[in-house]
Amino acid sequence: MNGKSENSRNNGKCVCHVCLHHCALKEGQYGRCGARKNENGKIVCDIYGRITALAVDPIEKKPLRHFYPGSRILSVGSYGCNLSCPFCQNHEISMAGRSHAGRGEAASESGEAPPESGEAPSDYEEISPEKVALLAEHYREYGNIGVAFTYNEPLVGYEFVRDTARIVRERGMKNVVVTNGSVTLPVLEEILPYVDAMNIDLKGFSEEYYRKLGGDLETVKTFIVRAAQSCHVELTTLIVPGENDSEAEMEEEARWIASVGPDIVLHVTRFFPAYRMEDRNPTRKETVYRLRDVAGKYLKYVYTGNC
Ligand code: SF4
Repeated sequence: MNGKSENSRNNGKCVCHVCLHHCALKEGQYGRCGARKNENGKIVCDIYGRITALAVDPIEKKPLRHFYPGSRILSVGSYGCNLSCPFCQNHEISMAGRSHAGRGEAASESGEAPPESGEAPSDYEEISPEKVALLAEHYREYGNIGVAFTYNEPLVGYEFVRDTARIVRERGMKNVVVTNGSVTLPVLEEILPYVDAMNIDLKGFSEEYYRKLGGDLETVKTFIVRAAQSCHVELTTLIVPGENDSEAEMEEEARWIASVGPDIVLHVTRFFPAYRMEDRNPTRKETVYRLRDVAGKYLKYVYTGNC
């Protein structure tokens, strides 16, 4: 994105056009994502190179089932998210940017063997795009195929994704983005030349549900259509009891996905109580299996998750 399309002015405020919210920010103010702010009359990315989580994960954990199955991928995350899902499984880091206090100094890089997934640290470490690409190469001997940008919403800090992915690609490795698909098309176009695969959340198939999450279904649909023209795409729908678990909604969703591409993979996953939905029951396994069967009437590849 050039500076003009990313920044415009509104009543003396600076407007960020990275995602659907188009936040109008006063000097020093952060956007809803907690990742971008108005600094000296310009929207800047505050999370560039700030890594809160880093692990070499099986590719199936992203989840991606039809992209280099059996491989592993260096997964990195920062903090901040532009949606407000009350069931967020990663809320410690995705929502961390919303309170700008308590962050520590960068820790030192250490260790030779790939780190395993674990609790995301509450603080971040400054790691340059070059260093991330070097780490990805280092872990090649452990079956690593590249870098996955994940854990928080990576595209609220798309500049780091773009710059890192470019170097990773130059080194002959792959790039994966795990995203809620709620950024604008100019941002998507910035990263698409370097992205090999995406897992995109399609959280449900009604505007009403997306509004509850602080999002917009049409934006996500537009994002999915464009992404699927350029790279391998798999989708994930987390089934939350009483929210998006009707057969009619899944039928409509699967029919639409098939119209975009009948080979697109859909992951139908089971909700477990988390964050602001800790008092809910997990989704019944039977519900997930039933919705998988509904989607399977239209799609060739539907997988269940967390069952
Ligand atoms: S990326 Fe962040 S600051 Fe920019 S519009 Fe979205 S929520 Fe607002």
